[in-house]
Amino acid sequence: MIDEEKIKQAIKMILEGIGEDPEREGLAGTPDRVARMYGEIFAGMDDDPANYLSRTFSAEGTDMVVEREIPFYSMCEHHLMPFFGHAYIGYIPKDRVVGLSKLARAVDVYAKRPQIQEQMTAQIADAIYEDLDCAGVIVVLKAEHMCMSMRGVKKGGTLTVTEARRGVFESDHGLEERFFRMIGIR
Ligand SMILES: [Zn+2]
Repeated sequence: MIDEEKIKQAIKMILEGIGEDPEREGLAGTPDRVARMYGEIFAGMDDDPANYLSRTFSAEGTDMVVEREIPFYSMCEHHLMPFFGHAYIGYIPKDRVVGLSKLARAVDVYAKRPQIQEQMTAQIADAIYEDLDCAGVIVVLKAEHMCMSMRGVKKGGTLTVTEARRGVFESDHGLEERFFRMIGIR
């Protein structure tokens, strides 16, 4: 559960720490606003992807299901700066499929936590593989990290691409090729 009072105090201290006056008119409501916003952008802390992925329905003989360009917004756990981009998911059902919006919900559960992109990719793949009980899954995330764009090396526009494969995607590279053709990358 999010402790908004604690976040409010912390934001006030950050403002004091950079030499600002947290009581001035423009900043007076900021700690409160940020605390409420954190409740929303870290809502995945209290959520479980199984809440969405376990709602399946039967669809026998279904081939690869691909959902592309699912937008997500997350927070890098090293700098507490946003990273954001798109998720691409392909899975091979055994005999059950999940509603397409539920894949996006599962992405959101992991995006709305302090994250690193590599770990988020693996967590989404594991959740779909286990909770959906499918034959295999592949997850690709493409994202821009504000901690790279705004500070440090300042390489704005650089995209970080990560991939995780489970089940049949680990052994069958033909499937992987087909997935990349379906999402329009190769
Ligand atoms: Zn970072």
